[in-house]
Amino acid sequence: MRTIFLDIDGVLNGDGTKDWIPVDEIMAVAFPDVPFVGAFGSTKGMTGFCPSLLARLSRILKAVPDAEVVLSSSWRKRFSLEGIERWLAERGLQLKFAGSTPLSFNGHRGHEICDWLEDHPEVQSFVILEDGSDISPSLKSHWVQPDCRTGLSDKDVEDAIRILRRNGS
Ligand SMILES: [Mg+2]
Repeated sequence: MRTIFLDIDGVLNGDGTKDWIPVDEIMAVAFPDVPFVGAFGSTKGMTGFCPSLLARLSRILKAVPDAEVVLSSSWRKRFSLEGIERWLAERGLQLKFAGSTPLSFNGHRGHEICDWLEDHPEVQSFVILEDGSDISPSLKSHWVQPDCRTGLSDKDVEDAIRILRRNGS
């Protein structure tokens, strides 16, 4: 099994990106029966998805078709995986999350990813897409750190594919 640990803010959106789709719209699609109260409304880029960055994630998934995606983003606290999947499908990205990392007391991404890996010894290779810096030293060779202003870059895509393809083609 090959696994992509996916952060969203700073990876699929960026502080300085222009083409973002606000989270309000995501909410409306993911939870059509729930009236949106504006709790997440924002005018900043770092609150939704950028189609151009989704396309880059899609390139990774096409290059490594057996890779599965595990959500490590704080979005897992706000939205159901199914809700995010539904919204992504509307945008043309068919993605089925394999799960999400466990929540920890201090919210340390690296520790949460280590916890998930401990429970999944079948993982053959993995990459962590994370713009933040709370990644444990033992995970650093698996880490791709996008610039939070731009999100996932072309080079990040190439690095992620290379890391995922380790330990077999
Ligand atoms: Mg982030």
